[in-house]
This record gives sequence, C-alpha cells and structure tokens, in this order.
Amino acid sequence: MNAINDLRLLSKNISVLNPCYNKSNQNKCINCTLALFRQCRTVWHGGRDVTIEDLAAMSLDHPGRCYCTSNYSSASAEEFQATKAAERLLFDKNGMPRSADTCTVMSQVIADNDTRGPKNAIKRQNSILGNVADGIAEHFPDLGHVIKNSSNEFFTTRDKDPSFKGKQCLTNEKIKSIHSDISHTKKGYCDYVGMENERTKCFRQLNCIV
Ligand SMILES: [Zn+2]
Repeated sequence: MNAINDLRLLSKNISVLNPCYNKSNQNKCINCTLALFRQCRTVWHGGRDVTIEDLAAMSLDHPGRCYCTSNYSSASAEEFQATKAAERLLFDKNGMPRSADTCTVMSQVIADNDTRGPKNAIKRQNSILGNVADGIAEHFPDLGHVIKNSSNEFFTTRDKDPSFKGKQCLTNEKIKSIHSDISHTKKGYCDYVGMENERTKCFRQLNCIV
C-alpha cells in the first residue's frame, strides 16, 4: 500500500512526459514462423494445400530463443497487452513500483481507434493511481487508423443503405476519390491537433468534401 502511495505522490510531480512507444502484440516470433513454414512445406511436398485444420494441429515449438510476447491472437492481443503495458510503466517486472527515473504516467495515448486497448490502458492506470490520475490520460487516435476507418465507413454505409448503390452513387472509384481528399485534409490538420481554429477549418473542409 505504501508503494501505491509513493506512486500517487510521484504522479502528482510529473510534469515532463517523454513519448514512449509500446509494441507488444506479437503472437509468433520469426523462429515460430519458420517452424510453421517447415511443416507447411512438408504438406505441400505431399502434393496438397495446407488447410485450417492442418495449421491448428501444427506445433510452434522450435530450438533457440522464442521472441513471442503474447499467446493471444494478433487481433485481440493489444487489448490485453495495453493493460499490461500500463502496469509495467508503473511497476517493474517484480511488481515493485518503479523509481522516479523510470516510472511513467501516460497522458497522451496515441493508438488505434478501432480497439478497446487504449481505453483499457487508461482504465488500468486510473485503477492503480486512483483519483490523482483523473483526467490526466487521453486517447488520441493515430492518423493511419483515422484514415483507414473513414475509408471503411464509406463501404459499410454503401452496404447498409441501398440508396448509395448504383453507377451514379458510391462506386469504388468515387469512394477512392472522396477518400483521397479526406486524407489530404486530415493529414493537414494532424500537426495542429488541439488547436481550435485549425480544427474548425478541418471540419469545414470535410463538410465541403462530403
Ligand atoms: Zn518463437
């Protein structure tokens, strides 16, 4: 409990936050992949294709060090790993609170916006630090995902609403063209995130395009 109090005190005094990059969603390392590939090659040499059932039955065991960092699938690993990352920024691998030099409190979490990962990480940080962490951390969707999701949204809208289908409506070419203008506008705003007048300008431009 003392340790938690120390962390709470520490987080009150943190004024400078260095960006930190967390990438930990690998469920296969290069050696795992090679082990899998060798087994696939045996099947191919036997004259048939590899099926999903074959893959499920194959072993990822291999000699040498395994660099795999998660047993979850790539699609869901980030949600669990984000929680772990929030813990490890505050505690070391033995579960002891980090020193002032290495302890990190998240403030701007820049990550995908199509996963619960960032929210999970912020929730975990708040549950460890308590009220003192309220309002400190905020999730900013990364540019690549904002662009990807808006493109996907056009296709989803067209699938859901038949009035957007047809030659004169949302054809693939038209989506591509609208999306190119949207991307350009979003990229222009990216360097000014948080500046109110730039935000309004970006929204106005997006309204003109769509
Ligand atoms: Zn491995």
